[in-house]
Amino acid sequence: MEKKNIDWANIGFGYIQTDYRYVSQYKDGAWDEGALITDPTITLSECACVLQYAQTCFEGLKAYTTEDGHIVAFRPDLNAERMMNSAAGLEMPPFPKERFIDAVQKVVEANAAYVPPYGSGASLYLRPYMFGFNSVIGVKPATEYQFRIFATPVGPYFKGGAKPITIRVSDFDRAAPRGTGHIKAGLNYAMSLHAIVDAHNQGFDENVYLDPGTRTKIEETGGANLIFITKDNKVVTPKSSSILPSITRRSILQAARDYLGLETEEREILLEEVKDFAECGLCGTAAVISPVGKIVDHGNEICFPSGMEKMGPVTQKLYDTLTGIQMGRIKAPEGWIKVIQ
Ligand SMILES: *Cc1c(COP(=O)(O)O)cnc(C)c1O
Repeated sequence: MEKKNIDWANIGFGYIQTDYRYVSQYKDGAWDEGALITDPTITLSECACVLQYAQTCFEGLKAYTTEDGHIVAFRPDLNAERMMNSAAGLEMPPFPKERFIDAVQKVVEANAAYVPPYGSGASLYLRPYMFGFNSVIGVKPATEYQFRIFATPVGPYFKGGAKPITIRVSDFDRAAPRGTGHIKAGLNYAMSLHAIVDAHNQGFDENVYLDPGTRTKIEETGGANLIFITKDNKVVTPKSSSILPSITRRSILQAARDYLGLETEEREILLEEVKDFAECGLCGTAAVISPVGKIVDHGNEICFPSGMEKMGPVTQKLYDTLTGIQMGRIKAPEGWIKVIQ
């Protein structure tokens, strides 16, 4: 198969239209059989539930070329399960797990010419999403839905190595204590847009949100979970019911234990104790791990000993291990890699 003529190393993280997307429609209480289509646009009612009441959730995962030339996806079963959970939280009909995985397979196969080659650092980003389709004006869930997946090639997240970023403690809250923080809903992102623009205007790369109940504990950033490394090399991650359960973070913790023999702990982390950690990183599908060099809390700078030049040593090991597993250089745990072709 002929690859598209794309400068893989320089495409950045943006939308590039590909040839095929998957769509399945839910109507009269059932999902139809679904199909690949070529039209990248959607026509829907001006009163569609998604437009008026934001009834929509999404997922994000990647397909890439491994060292031995296969095209694979990383743990799509977990994306499928998480999306079923998100759908339930928004009163949407779950899209069945096996069908989700099959749709991932179909979209990647059909767009194989857009899967970047091994070693380019780029990958094919997949965006599954679903939304309330029919018109709803009184507040209630839609009765018709669409489940879709599109694919877009994305460049290496870090060009020329991962430079540590600076994040600020946000005065805005991301998720209410008994709200929707644990589900991957567009609405959580809508309310983060003002906070991120404001952070950028003030010279920060990202916001770190505190628990809205007490504002004393660390939760996560707008789109990534946090991990910390203690001075004696333990991997610690915040525990909270309003954090989105990152698949990258869960995979890193397991890899830390099983491949690197590190202790891991999921517990509440006070803002007050952050100064005692040796390293910090953000984790999510897009970057795998972004090192954090500094957290700024209202002018008080918390600088990690790993500094602003490179990833801390333990973070680097975690990054190398997880990307090694993904790229087929290190043997993956059972079930983590779905071979597409
Ligand atoms: C998607 C997302 C993450 C990262 O999850 P991954 O499964 O690792 O990509 C973290 N936080 C939020 C709020 C997210 O929406």
